[in-house]
Amino acid sequence: MTVPCSQQDHGADNALEPPVCPWVIGCTIPLEDSTGTVYAHLRTHGFIRRHTDRAPCPWPLCPQEMQWRNVARHILERHIQVRVQCTICGNIYTRNETLQAHMYVCMETYFNAMLAEDHQSN
Ligand SMILES: [Zn+2]
Ligand SMILES: [Zn+2]
Ligand SMILES: [Zn+2]
Repeated sequence: MTVPCSQQDHGADNALEPPVCPWVIGCTIPLEDSTGTVYAHLRTHGFIRRHTDRAPCPWPLCPQEMQWRNVARHILERHIQVRVQCTICGNIYTRNETLQAHMYVCMETYFNAMLAEDHQSN
């Protein structure tokens, strides 16, 4: 089966799973990277406030309280684009599982390189 070219966008980026809505199971409204999208999404689920109101973050189990005008950015930074960093090589990953898998390989490469250097300097 073939997909028409016009329907395909940058295939390489599709490896990342799209962020999943935490409020309604099976919700298919996109929840990604613009604050406008996030506010629109929040409104659909009944989180309607003025931007100057202080409110708890609507994300489940998040204890933070902030001005509503900061909520969308907070959600994007803290809950959607979670960035984790490899302490060995500094590579940044968006998912903990991916980082864990990477670090096994990275650590091995690192130690092998150290061993190789030791041998050379002898
Ligand atoms: Zn939703
Ligand atoms: Zn939060
Ligand atoms: Zn690494």
